[in-house]
Amino acid sequence: MLPAKTTLVGGTGLFLITVSADIQKNGGRVSAVLDETPFCRRVPAPGLLAWNLTKFALGNAMLAWLRLTGTGMHYGTRIIEARGSDNLREVIAARVDPAGAVIPGSETAYRIDCLAVGFGFSANLELAQLAGCAVAFNAGLGGWVVKVNEDLETTVDGISAAGEITAIGGAAKSLIEGRLAGLSILRRMGLLKSGELTKEISILKQNRKRHMAFGRYFNAQYSFPSNTWPTGSAAYPTMCLFAAARK
Ligand SMILES: Cc1cc2nc3c(=O)[nH]c(=O)nc-3n(C[C@H](O)[C@H](O)[C@H](O)COP(=O)(O)OP(=O)(O)OC[C@H]3O[C@@H](n4cnc5c(N)ncnc54)[C@H](O)[C@@H]3O)c2cc1C
Repeated sequence: MLPAKTTLVGGTGLFLITVSADIQKNGGRVSAVLDETPFCRRVPAPGLLAWNLTKFALGNAMLAWLRLTGTGMHYGTRIIEARGSDNLREVIAARVDPAGAVIPGSETAYRIDCLAVGFGFSANLELAQLAGCAVAFNAGLGGWVVKVNEDLETTVDGISAAGEITAIGGAAKSLIEGRLAGLSILRRMGLLKSGELTKEISILKQNRKRHMAFGRYFNAQYSFPSNTWPTGSAAYPTMCLFAAARK
């Protein structure tokens, strides 16, 4: 469902590109993507790039397509004001310096009637918390996560966790963890003998590591310089919001 004919997308992180590409793919238009994080943070370490080549290739293809279809990409740019009475009419954005402070005089006005903003993901941990599983805050893993060991067992005996609740890292990581957790449960139940499926388990663990490494890179795109945000919210990814105002 398209929010509007033309949308301005802002916030932080790689997900802005995915959402913009989805909007365009479905017949909408994204006039610009305003990302607060500086472009330099996007550049992955060579090892990470080589390890996740397909993901980076897909991301860059999306980015190239957005550029070719006329979407402006602006890094180090913060939305500082949204104006309008009954509807959104205009959005003001400004450049930010590496410390996160707005650069005076760099403001630009966008006449637009739909604004989408996203600042990352946060997993719903309530079920695991109700079951008594320990949780921990780890910005690299995407914020609050359920603590698990390498077999995806939580701190509560007999309860395993898999997916975004152990770390924000994308759909493939969730699927891998689901299978790993399942196999570990079978082993505990005595239905998987020691030595059985060891090759598959070792490949799954290796792939999980690869996705976790990408997840750390992904989650690093959502942190802000601490002097520009209230204490406690610095480096804290918030749920992806979609605020649209239409005529
Ligand atoms: C718009 C969008 C686009 C995305 N695009 C991509 C992409 O291109 N590539 C990619 O890799 N990833 C993408 N993702 C992320 C991807 O969807 C997730 O990584 C994946 O779905 C995580 O799977 P999961 O099983 O861990 O969690 P989820 O799919 O979120 O499943 C968790 C389930 O638990 C349920 N649940 C949670 N709390 C409770 C509760 N208290 N009681 C009952 N049920 C509960 C939820 O309703 C949900 O059904 C995208 C996400 C969004 C939102």
